[in-house]
Amino acid sequence: MIRIIGAGFSGLSLAYFFVKKGVPVTIIEKRLRTGGVIQSEFKNNMLIESAANGFLASEKIEEMFSDIGLPILTTNMESRKKYIYRNGARRWPLAIGETIELIFRGIWAIVSDTKAPRKGETLNTWARRVLGTAGNDYLIQPMVNGIFAQDTSKLSAKLVLGSMFFKKRRRRLRGLVSARGGMGEVILKLELYLKQHKVQFEFGSDEKKLPDNLKHNTFLAMDLPSATLHFANSNIKESVANKNGLTSLSLARVTMTYRNNVNQIDGFGVLFPNKEKFFSLGVLANTKIFENRGEYNESWILGESILPDLMTLSDQQIIDKIMSDRKRLFNDDKAEVKDVSIHRWPNVVPSYDFSLEGFLDSNPEIISHLTGNYLGVLGLTGIHERNHQLVESYLERNKK
Ligand SMILES: Cc1cc2nc3c(=O)[nH]c(=O)nc-3n(C[C@H](O)[C@H](O)[C@H](O)COP(=O)(O)OP(=O)(O)OC[C@H]3O[C@@H](n4cnc5c(N)ncnc54)[C@H](O)[C@@H]3O)c2cc1C
Repeated sequence: MIRIIGAGFSGLSLAYFFVKKGVPVTIIEKRLRTGGVIQSEFKNNMLIESAANGFLASEKIEEMFSDIGLPILTTNMESRKKYIYRNGARRWPLAIGETIELIFRGIWAIVSDTKAPRKGETLNTWARRVLGTAGNDYLIQPMVNGIFAQDTSKLSAKLVLGSMFFKKRRRRLRGLVSARGGMGEVILKLELYLKQHKVQFEFGSDEKKLPDNLKHNTFLAMDLPSATLHFANSNIKESVANKNGLTSLSLARVTMTYRNNVNQIDGFGVLFPNKEKFFSLGVLANTKIFENRGEYNESWILGESILPDLMTLSDQQIIDKIMSDRKRLFNDDKAEVKDVSIHRWPNVVPSYDFSLEGFLDSNPEIISHLTGNYLGVLGLTGIHERNHQLVESYLERNKK
């Protein structure tokens, strides 16, 4: 019997791969529901996501949708347009001279075989070396804001690039995929599939102390702060988590509708480079990404890397900051807020820094019993693909 602690997507996906191999599983979850940070809510005929709004398409994700009996929802054509802000929302934010510099630097890095990150190199240093300053400031930094919510100077180049180019994923579909009922529907269907395959769920059960048999049949599928607590509370000698100071960043996802006929983003969304000094990391045009998401609405993503006091800001302070960003983005002060849903997530994005790199490099045995977004892959698809490999190697190791 496999025990999985945590019923967020990481735990459910791991259970799914064990179930497919016919291995019995129990999942222990401290909350009274599955999904962790992922939840979808219908409000005034609008679908509001609390955290993730999609999976990057991959063969294994498509297979999971098929197994749990859920039709895949792909993105609208217009969402192919993605923007980065530089004196307005632009699809390519670099000037001609900067683009030429980026191409020459890139070619040089390839021919001189210096493109790989060096030991101890931050993402900022790597990006400036291989792509130039504008490449860092107006391409890499805004993209990183959309995924890692952190300044490139704080991140390990090796860890981030390894995560971004985690390419074991063959796929039929392109881009982001979800379900008609949102990510919450995927979670509910996955839970149902697992129950139909006799997976036992123990809700409201906070595993305070790790069982000694962690190395045999127990997997931790928790967020990084909870997992770090476990390493400290248990007698896992290999744990260097606390010493190294593994940290996570807080985020807020704020979904807004507007009273009057406002300017709209005609694409997926806009990412903001730190240089442009917005309060937000970026904004998603939800109703342009997937069909049937109700009246025009946007999700603004705010992060602790830009707003250190984010978790203590009142709703009104958050709204004011977003409206100030919106005014700059559209050069428009006519927008009036109609409805707002704010999801605050303390310590939700693991910092892909040198402490994490050190932890991952020095704990291979423990890591083979951990799943989650702090293990080299941040997105749901990467977690799912890694879970597949975890199960395969666990079964291989435990062959009679
Ligand atoms: C705003 C936002 C937008 C995002 N957008 C995307 C996106 O579009 N695409 C994408 O791929 N990713 C996205 N992500 C990231 C993705 O949502 C997360 O990485 C992923 O959902 C994390 O899942 P998890 O199961 O590892 O952790 P969690 O969802 O945090 O689940 C962990 C579970 O473990 C439980 N737990 C903790 N401690 C214990 C204990 N002691 N005993 C029992 N149970 C315990 C918790 O209650 C929780 O249910 C986004 C994240 C955020 C915050």
